[in-house]
Amino acid sequence: MEKLQKEGYSTFLNEYFKKNKKLFSQLSKIQKPHTMIVTCSDSRINPALLLNSQPGELFIARNIGNVVPSYQPTKGSTQAAVEYAVNALNIPRIIILGHSNCGACAHMYHEPKEGDPKLLHVEEWLKHIVPAKSAAMLEVHDDSSKNIFELTEKHNVVVSLQRLMEYPYIQNRLIKNDISLEGWWFDIGTGKVEIYNFSTRDFESVIE
Ligand SMILES: [Zn+2]
Repeated sequence: MEKLQKEGYSTFLNEYFKKNKKLFSQLSKIQKPHTMIVTCSDSRINPALLLNSQPGELFIARNIGNVVPSYQPTKGSTQAAVEYAVNALNIPRIIILGHSNCGACAHMYHEPKEGDPKLLHVEEWLKHIVPAKSAAMLEVHDDSSKNIFELTEKHNVVVSLQRLMEYPYIQNRLIKNDISLEGWWFDIGTGKVEIYNFSTRDFESVIE
């Protein structure tokens, strides 16, 4: 804690905050983020760093496995975050940001062993990833050279996009061309980002 306070917070306050005092003063009155990011809780994923963005730009919802659950009118914290972003902040763009080496997706293939930690909430939450696992298994069945973990991570992004499209207020905006939805997959080891192409239904590399 002392290290966090001394080297972390003090540095932030004396350097970054000092340099951006005006920005923080403006942000204390209002936020107008241009993009919502739904990403994994994984410590290796840092959307602000990845997009070189400043405070106030990104509205971020994080959960294990960057999942968007199915629409339920009055339930769910991710659903609440999406609802607030779209209906209260009028966010014009939502990015589902998946990633390589995702423990949540890998856990879908984990054979339980004696001595494993009890993960009751995790197991329950990961049920949201079952459709992505099924889609990945179907694809690997056809071509075993494919990486089932990467496929699950990518299908998981696509399934989340599909679910977002079922949210009634997002459907309304999509019809009016008022919102854009994107699926991204970030490779931790190489820094590469691939974006889902809705026409080819595949992930494609962007800028070098
Ligand atoms: Zn993850």
